[in-house]
Amino acid sequence: MNHDPDTKMQFLYALRSKGVTDARVLTAMEQVDRSEYVKGTFSDRAYEDMPLPITCGQTISQPSIVGLMTQALKVGPRDKVLEVGTGSGYQAAILSKLARRVYTVDRHKRLVTAARAIFEAHDITNITTFTADGSYGLPDQAPFDRIMVTAAAEDAPGPLLAQLRVGGIMVLPVGQSDTVQSLIRVVRTEDGYDYDELLPVRFVPLLEGLGQD
Ligand code: SAH
Repeated sequence: MNHDPDTKMQFLYALRSKGVTDARVLTAMEQVDRSEYVKGTFSDRAYEDMPLPITCGQTISQPSIVGLMTQALKVGPRDKVLEVGTGSGYQAAILSKLARRVYTVDRHKRLVTAARAIFEAHDITNITTFTADGSYGLPDQAPFDRIMVTAAAEDAPGPLLAQLRVGGIMVLPVGQSDTVQSLIRVVRTEDGYDYDELLPVRFVPLLEGLGQD
């Protein structure tokens, strides 16, 4: 985290005022320096509560949305978590502070390589990265206690639902278009899945197959 105490205070204040109140989540977000994940022109805006462009035409999510999604996922210290949509690696780094192990997958190799380099530079050893189409999850690592998807599909992908263990929670944006999406939470029960809608959001789409770079 940036050493300027005012910047840090304002960042945490903005998170709290948007509803991020879970103490473990706030501590994790205080520990991870967002400017590391927003290289280049925009890095001096890393502590503003807004999404920013990263490479491959993707975006790093708005910090308050990262906080609300992480809070909704209710991650425990023994959990094995899958994140679909590594992007900059920022969300995975926050999850790594809360979970036992994080598996993160992106369809762009270039993003995965860059994120992995930051994790290594910061001695984050409980994240495993993959380049793949994350809509199919990671069958070899399943089941997962928690799954977070950070790109929007029309519906929760079947393989991800199947890879959630009973009692597990998945948080993901769903929607018919690029502009109207809802963040939903799915809880797997003994006999099925319970869904609830959390808030309107706007994410890049979950695309099929691998990216070109
Ligand atoms: N969580 C990221 C932001 C994600 S942006 C962060 O903290 O920075 C959404 C990401 O989802 C993009 O990097 C995009 O490449 C990826 N994505 C889209 N469709 C995908 C798919 N089918 N499988 C894996 N990743 C996908």
